Amino acid sequence: MDYVSTRNKAARVTAAYAIANGIASDGGLYCPTGFPALAAEDWEALAGMDYKGRAACILGKFLTDFSAEELADYAAKAYADEKFGGADTAPVVALGGGRNMLELWHGPTCAFKDMALQMLPHLLTASLRKTGETRTACILVATSGDTGKAALDGFHDVQGTKIMVYYPVDGVSPMQKLQMVTQEGGNVEVVAIRGNFDDAQSAVKRIFTDEKTREELDRDGMMLSSANSINWGRLAPQIAYYVSAYCDMVKGGAVEMGEKINICVPTGNFGNILAAYIAKRMGLPVNKLICASNRNNVLTDFFKKGGAYDRNRDFYTTTSPSMDILISSNLERLLFFASDYDDKLVAELMDKLARGGSYQVAKDVFAKIDADFDAGCCDDRAAAETIRTLWETEHYLCDTHTAVAVRVYEDYRVRTGDETPVVIASTASPFKFCRSVIEALGGTLEKDDVTQLDVLTALTDTPAPSPLAALAGRPPRFERVVDKADILSTVSLLRDL
Ligand SMILES: *Cc1c(COP(=O)(O)O)cnc(C)c1O
Repeated sequence: MDYVSTRNKAARVTAAYAIANGIASDGGLYCPTGFPALAAEDWEALAGMDYKGRAACILGKFLTDFSAEELADYAAKAYADEKFGGADTAPVVALGGGRNMLELWHGPTCAFKDMALQMLPHLLTASLRKTGETRTACILVATSGDTGKAALDGFHDVQGTKIMVYYPVDGVSPMQKLQMVTQEGGNVEVVAIRGNFDDAQSAVKRIFTDEKTREELDRDGMMLSSANSINWGRLAPQIAYYVSAYCDMVKGGAVEMGEKINICVPTGNFGNILAAYIAKRMGLPVNKLICASNRNNVLTDFFKKGGAYDRNRDFYTTTSPSMDILISSNLERLLFFASDYDDKLVAELMDKLARGGSYQVAKDVFAKIDADFDAGCCDDRAAAETIRTLWETEHYLCDTHTAVAVRVYEDYRVRTGDETPVVIASTASPFKFCRSVIEALGGTLEKDDVTQLDVLTALTDTPAPSPLAALAGRPPRFERVVDKADILSTVSLLRDL
């Protein structure tokens, strides 16, 4: 399988090259040139496998320059039972009303980013080897909270890599911040920026396309790479859990093999839901992909207003910070796929986005997108109500991001009458957003963030995940705050790691 940039499909590269480099030098995102189909015998084999086997199998369809043995070895390490608290890596929990919660937060940092970022270091180090790369890979990460910690956990002390994380100083939850600033490891750096996630992401993209920075790093034996979902190596492992969920649902009798499901995903950068779209293109029986947003509803408008994307709007800080995003990077890949790989068109739209902050997708392309997707949004109050209702009626505790998806799905079902069984991506442990969840349940907040975990445990009789409880008393290692205009200068910190 070859890969091409969304903005220039003339040059074909291998999966290893795409993963090692993260983003194409023209600013485009690497995409596979086709969708490998899952045949009936694939489904049969997948059904009999554990999560590690399923992940290795799906990755093998896309990463054809990796051997089956390599991928099986990485999957065994990435999804080791001791990292994911047991054999069920991504369990499906059935609720009433045909709702199936796909819990993606049983990994070491308690958010779905672990599903990909425990795998990426293995893929990246192998990709460097396969492409004959001898320089140190410097991974730059812009985070709205969860990617930062998951990437730090995945890459700390990994040979041949350094990692630098940028987070918006007032844009992450207290627990997310504590997780990042206490990170151990000799090859890590964490920087807070005065700005929001979009500022951080734009700055990182700017560093990537800055020739001078690249040359200077090259002279010092370093190269840039990415652990954001702009990197194909981040996206590919995410396809597996949708396939795995379907296998589990068939096994458990929730659906018959071949019966369609809906998938609803709380969305920010559009990576997670794009993985579900790719699974659909491979043959996963999906009726609608439902894109759920918080008050930053640029994507809802895009889907509802005939493909008009417009980031010129107010930015809100919400109780679901990992979705506080106005530039959803992976939408670029959807445009590429839906337009049958029209690189000129994508380059033109992305240029419009960069210059004026908006673009309009052509009718025929949007018609294809519209056939696959539905969308909705809800505000913090509706999300809080949902957390409370779900707890009171189903005794199911969910976090603020997942609550957005549950609410948007509910609205969708009422609006359309569509009763197709649904998979709702549950993207974070509720303990990661303790403060908001306690408030939603009507509990009383404590001052200290780690003590807050005990409050939620007392309220719900649910134990806090051990990686979060272990943060108590850990001193912060990183306290640097920079203006967004000065991000480029922080690249020099990489030299000292
Ligand atoms: C990152 C994140 C999201 C958004 O996922 P995207 O792939 O960026 O759309 C949703 N919920 C949580 C908890 C996250 O960490």
